[in-house]
Amino acid sequence: SVITNYPPTAELQALDAAHHMHPFTANAELAQKGARIIVRADGVRLTDSDGAEMIDAMAGLWCVNIGYGRHELAEAAARQMRELPYYNTFFQTSHVPALQLAAKLAELAPGDLNHVFFAAGGSEANDTNIRMVRHYWARKGQPEKRVIISRRNAYHGSSMGSASLGGMAGMHAQGGMPIPDIVHIDQPNWYAEGGDSDPQEFGIARARQLEAKIAELGADKVAAFIAEPVQGAGGVIVPPESYWPEIKRICAEHDILLIADEVICGFGRIGHWFGSQSYDIQPHIMTIAKGLSSGYAPIGGSIVCDEVAEVIGGGEFNHGYTYSGHPVAAAVALENLRILEEEKIVQRVHDDTGPYLTEAWARLADHPLVGEAVNRGLMASIALTPDKARRAPFAAPVGTVGLIARERCFANNLVMRHVGDRMIISPPLIISRDDIDEVILRATRALDETL
Ligand code: PLP
Repeated sequence: SVITNYPPTAELQALDAAHHMHPFTANAELAQKGARIIVRADGVRLTDSDGAEMIDAMAGLWCVNIGYGRHELAEAAARQMRELPYYNTFFQTSHVPALQLAAKLAELAPGDLNHVFFAAGGSEANDTNIRMVRHYWARKGQPEKRVIISRRNAYHGSSMGSASLGGMAGMHAQGGMPIPDIVHIDQPNWYAEGGDSDPQEFGIARARQLEAKIAELGADKVAAFIAEPVQGAGGVIVPPESYWPEIKRICAEHDILLIADEVICGFGRIGHWFGSQSYDIQPHIMTIAKGLSSGYAPIGGSIVCDEVAEVIGGGEFNHGYTYSGHPVAAAVALENLRILEEEKIVQRVHDDTGPYLTEAWARLADHPLVGEAVNRGLMASIALTPDKARRAPFAAPVGTVGLIARERCFANNLVMRHVGDRMIISPPLIISRDDIDEVILRATRALDETL
């Protein structure tokens, strides 16, 4: 049964404008035009309050990996809510969903990533990581080893800690970030920053910025390096193949912990359970959220290797959240992982839809506005440019053309996102080949209308 007795759209929009503060939004401007109100969804399609249907090529916010409308997850939530809606795991107790989910994640995660510290999302999990790596080195007798190196244009969350890890200047400018002892190096974005260099040499040079930063600070001051395997919210920046092997070498040689932020890349997005496996990385800690529950319930966490867990576990770690391992969210996540596994959804991205998207997406590079079209598995981006040969940015303020393109997508009932003048997709992993074609058709139409 569906809920159909909503007030008319104009009334909903007026309430929204009067009372709802939207994240990452100029609210007064949105109030002028009114938000599009989404009322239900199924598979890869959303329905708005006027009954229009849109393809959601962003899977919500990169999270609805199994697609919308999987009632098994609703049932898992209802069952768990009836049985045990809440309990904490702080004071010598545990509960079945949290321990089962931790065990399942230990089984799926590569190598000796066998221990899970839960949070309600990715920002909280990255805050955990900041405290965990510093506490780890302190317990090993090196309290000065506390600097965390991250990358410009990275996104690691929106709390003070996680946004400090992130490299978004616009976020840092509001509210006093980064917090102390977090520093940033450049991203491996060859398209925008590589000039005439060879992409592989550029990848190595960007990785060596990490080595230079460690040399500048002293390895005895650096606790960890954090990065997304493929930068997502920064615009789906696929690193040159040379990048990750060099980063791995540098972290190992200088005794720096490696944190892979798998909030987007995890749970099948780029064709393996974790992005780290796609790049043959063995991190000490992985941040997870989003696809862990396919967004059906808020849950995230840190998957931690044996050695870090052992050192941390030797005393009390003064850290935790009321909703760490929330039983309903954990039950939903377990059901989500069962579906991903039983329906071989990750395998399908690897063998079928990922390669299919690579081929189909590349055709967008023929469009006069598109400077590059790249993907890794089912995350993809195009860079908009007025001059393909020079990979030039637009003269207008960054994001002006991207915003127009995004609005044209919206008008064509396609949800795509723009990051500056890059357009990105990250569809539900269950998307069919036909729907991939439909996404590209609508995107092309939107680009034609943007010209
Ligand atoms: N890390 C990455 C790579 C993300 O993309 C995000 C969210 O987009 C986060 C962390 C923050 O997660 P959350 O919004 O669940 O706090």
